[in-house]
Amino acid sequence: MISDCLTINSQGHLVISGCDTVELVREYGTPLYVMSEDKIRQVCRRYLSSFQKNYDGYGCPIYASKAFSCKEIYRIIAQEGLETEVVSGGELYTALLAGVPAEKIHFQGNNKTPDELQFAVEKNVGDIVVDNFYELELLEALGERTGKKASISFRVKPGIDAHTHEFIRTGQIDSKFGLDLQSGEALEAVKKSQSMKFVSLKGLHCHIGSQIMEKEPFVHAAQVMLDFFFRLKKELGITLEHLNLGGGFGIKYIEKDDTIPYEDYMETVSRAVHKKCAEADYPIPKIYIEPGRSIVGEAGITLYTVGAVKEIPQVRNYVSIDGGMFENPRYALYQAEYTCLLGNRANDPADYLATIAGKCCESGDLIQENTLIQKPQSGDILAVLSTGAYNYSMASNYNRNPRPACVMVSKGKSRVIIRRETYEDLVLNDL
Ligand SMILES: *Cc1c(COP(=O)(O)O)cnc(C)c1O
Repeated sequence: MISDCLTINSQGHLVISGCDTVELVREYGTPLYVMSEDKIRQVCRRYLSSFQKNYDGYGCPIYASKAFSCKEIYRIIAQEGLETEVVSGGELYTALLAGVPAEKIHFQGNNKTPDELQFAVEKNVGDIVVDNFYELELLEALGERTGKKASISFRVKPGIDAHTHEFIRTGQIDSKFGLDLQSGEALEAVKKSQSMKFVSLKGLHCHIGSQIMEKEPFVHAAQVMLDFFFRLKKELGITLEHLNLGGGFGIKYIEKDDTIPYEDYMETVSRAVHKKCAEADYPIPKIYIEPGRSIVGEAGITLYTVGAVKEIPQVRNYVSIDGGMFENPRYALYQAEYTCLLGNRANDPADYLATIAGKCCESGDLIQENTLIQKPQSGDILAVLSTGAYNYSMASNYNRNPRPACVMVSKGKSRVIIRRETYEDLVLNDL
């Protein structure tokens, strides 16, 4: 199984953290997101213990919550001792409502609105990661009006091109995110911040992409960022407190995904950081990383009921499910790969070539094309694996489909953490 929270029981049913998927479907219906709390907590602890080991605890993982955002995940993350990253006023609101302390929140985004910035400053968010001069000036103007000082860092483009899908690459020059290092834009922003009264610059941040399966781009980014730290000290006499190296650690979607254990990333990058700081006789800044996908991705699966099976000779076999792009748009967006199987007959041979189709009125509404699953019949349970990240958080009500419920499972027990939307929910804001 591609995630260690998944097993198959003696009846041939897929089991997640001790819960039989056939029983979950009987109890909660489909489509259904299922998340393993055990798996999420295990990954959090692996990152935390890596920080102990490699940085003597001087640093912290930050959960990038756009991967999966709801009150319960913020509670779990805070309990585990991670900090939280948000990228919108809505995520910030949810995190605060769930009880995340404001000083543990990092607010990212390439175009925070004046309202969002005001909300963050009012709530004393610990780290507003400023992306551009527009935001910097908004914060200063806000301070002049309210007298409140914002604690900030800068998002920097280190110019690293991580080999991943074009849409999820963010560290290169042609990116909408961050201040450019090479052209001097980032240096200019630092200088400007020093003359401002209502911003206090604490650190720098970079994020080079997502679903990255190599260590080198992370090492390279850390080195480039540290060189900039050294330059700031030399030219401006500024020593910054923290360096946030971003997220993007790859997870297993399909068997051939060759993932690197998180401990390996941490150790390799830490070694480079220690070496470089020692050479420059510079104190090691507090290090942050910002994993999203790798904390929740493999912890989640989605369960569906198979409806129509349409076999088109010499063309393909469409296996239609009661979900689709409205609750998992990732294949439609960027041909994301997934492992699919029948949850109620997981031990049968996977020898049926299927195209898994959603129920939306779009030909492109597919979950996977030409993938091998067990021979399906209407009424079977189809499971799609590694859907914990960027599924629920990307869901919509397209075609006025209600969003599925999300159930959290742990040691054989299950509980609803997000209830299923109803038709009444769909018209709640209609006048
Ligand atoms: C999306 C994002 C992350 C998390 O990326 P993952 O690939 O989910 O680990 C971290 N930092 C920033 C700034 C992001 O935008």
